Amino acid sequence: MNEDMEIHALAAKGQGERLVPFIYEKKPTKDDVTVRVLFRTVSMSDIFQIDNFWHSTTYPIVPSEDIIGEVVQTGENVRDLKVGDVVGIGYQVYSCGACDYCKKGLDQFCEKQRNLRVHEHGGLSDYMIVDGNFVFPIPKNLQKPEATPLFCAGLTAFSSIIHNGVTEEMSVAVVGIGRVGHLAVKFLRGMGCKVTAVTEDPKKQKYLASLGVTNRNVAKEHHSLEKSFDFIIFTGTRTVDWDMYLKMLKPTGKLILIGLPQKPLVFDAINLSDYANRQIIGSYIGSKDDMKQLIRFASKHNILADVEIFPYSESHMVIDMVRNNKIQYSAVITNSTS
Ligand SMILES: [Zn+2]
Repeated sequence: MNEDMEIHALAAKGQGERLVPFIYEKKPTKDDVTVRVLFRTVSMSDIFQIDNFWHSTTYPIVPSEDIIGEVVQTGENVRDLKVGDVVGIGYQVYSCGACDYCKKGLDQFCEKQRNLRVHEHGGLSDYMIVDGNFVFPIPKNLQKPEATPLFCAGLTAFSSIIHNGVTEEMSVAVVGIGRVGHLAVKFLRGMGCKVTAVTEDPKKQKYLASLGVTNRNVAKEHHSLEKSFDFIIFTGTRTVDWDMYLKMLKPTGKLILIGLPQKPLVFDAINLSDYANRQIIGSYIGSKDDMKQLIRFASKHNILADVEIFPYSESHMVIDMVRNNKIQYSAVITNSTS
């Protein structure tokens, strides 16, 4: 117990490089849980990290920020978890527990937070050693590959929905129906909201209809959609006509940015103000309590992600597919070898 453990992973050792086998050692503390990884996602944010897009990557970098695994060892301070528990792990893996934010249950704003790929290696590995406070037990109906994207992509969507006053019967538009957007749609439908999707992908029409969602072509219909939505949840990264989107919000409506548009937002402030008091709001993961609430909500409403599942041996191919936008919603890598 509490000896250095050898962890076998796949890592990029330099900017944009192909992943190679990488072994690192980590010693679990009394607060840590050792988890055998069962499923993990690879997403575009992994590619951005591998490519040093945000100019913050330190190499080697092990990808993956949504993980499901099985507890194989617990430190002596860990109370709520035991060997054999199936658990989820997301982007944030540590907070100080003592600062004002942590005391208020806003641990995602802790200045001392540690996050996967930024401060700790991600989940494309055989094991992970993580602070037990950020390891979340999951019920039986979520113990499957399709639940993996809930723990980072899902948490970000869920927390922005529950903390901005979205309630049932509200009219919400989700812009961009990919990894995060399709989960936002499922959460909103689970809450009983009237959901409109904004996507230009004709292949997704049938899928959206099966979720009870209307799809609108805003480029053509924006005039008739003015003052239609209580919320617009934007999950894309492209620059759009922000004035057009602001006008589609009802008075006091909120434009929530989950995706990060790559260029500065340009809009006419009159569209925030006149007859409206609209808001534009940022979004950053969620707290530990949000994660627990998400797990209960997803379990109750049987909300899973749409995923494509690949064996560990095909990790390189998955990275290439994600990089080239060949994954429709989420890619999950299991431990099988073929
Ligand atoms: Zn703190």
